[in-house]
Amino acid sequence: MAQASLKIDLDAVVANWRALDARSGEATRTSAVVKADSYGLGASKVAPALYRAGAREFFVALAEEGAKLRPHLGPEARIFVLGGHMAGDAPLIREAGLIPMLNSPEQMARHLDALPDAPFGVQLDTGMNRLGMEDDAWQEAAPVLLDRGIELVMSHLACADEPEHEMNAQQLAEFKRMTDGMAVKRSLAATGGILLGPDYHFDLTRPGIGLYGGRPFEAALGVATLSLPVIQTRVVQPGETVGYGNTWQAERITTMATIAAGYADGIHRVLSNITDLYAGDIPCPLRGRVSMDLLTVDVTDLDEVPDTLDLIGPSQGVDALADIAGTIGYEILTALGPRYNRVYSEQAG
Ligand SMILES: *Cc1c(COP(=O)(O)O)cnc(C)c1O
Repeated sequence: MAQASLKIDLDAVVANWRALDARSGEATRTSAVVKADSYGLGASKVAPALYRAGAREFFVALAEEGAKLRPHLGPEARIFVLGGHMAGDAPLIREAGLIPMLNSPEQMARHLDALPDAPFGVQLDTGMNRLGMEDDAWQEAAPVLLDRGIELVMSHLACADEPEHEMNAQQLAEFKRMTDGMAVKRSLAATGGILLGPDYHFDLTRPGIGLYGGRPFEAALGVATLSLPVIQTRVVQPGETVGYGNTWQAERITTMATIAAGYADGIHRVLSNITDLYAGDIPCPLRGRVSMDLLTVDVTDLDEVPDTLDLIGPSQGVDALADIAGTIGYEILTALGPRYNRVYSEQAG
């Protein structure tokens, strides 16, 4: 048990996708956002499980991600690239049959020039000012692009995790103004947008974090369990200190377990001295600093030291850990590094 293991419950991913699909309504298809290796959980396993469950549209950030994903999916899968068509992407887009979401007049020119017969979508900016064609460029480009056949027009909401935020209605109105009456499939909602209700659903929704058990989909099933092996235990006497910088000092006779994972594995150093790991449902405080490859955990109150302690799991979900670290579940998941042994469970098969 040398290597830390990241257990991924594919049945829970599928159940979360089905639950979001049910909320998306009859007329709306539900895709799966699997960028950043399915938020760190492994796109080569997660995406095929969703394909088996009926998902046919997948979103990645980069053409490279799409090309890596393609062999794992069946022939009906459509893989959309959110970053669009970047310089040098044409061979990957062609060979892997990817659908770039064109984000600018430059990308449009590049795509039509390099791959005039290859499918494409368009991403519009409706106020987030991050990625997508601006209104004036879109007005100019739309006739040409519509004539060629656009697979999908989409935009992205900046504040969808705050249902009361006025930005949601503003972006919805802007998206409609830019696309109403056009013969093209439309998509606006990620996880947060699905929960805003049917006005936001259009033809296709794009959930990511909700599939992986994170907020704002509060009803999501937990997907990830991060179990970290104990390398060694020692007894620390009152007055002794633990770890770099002596940031923790024992006040009682303490049994300290040293754990084989650290910030190089995505365990944020800011968690030093402020989080618990779990033996089942019993909390064991992380003492001292998070090191690159090691953690030190107070297991004094356990009857028996287990082989592993959980940092993420049923007793402490991804969002609970994110709250302690002062970040979001997305960052906790995507930071989980390549050293974990990713173990997949799937009943449905
Ligand atoms: C990441 C992303 C999504 C998925 O968002 P979640 O909040 O994880 O559901 C959807 N659309 C775009 C454009 C994205 O960048």
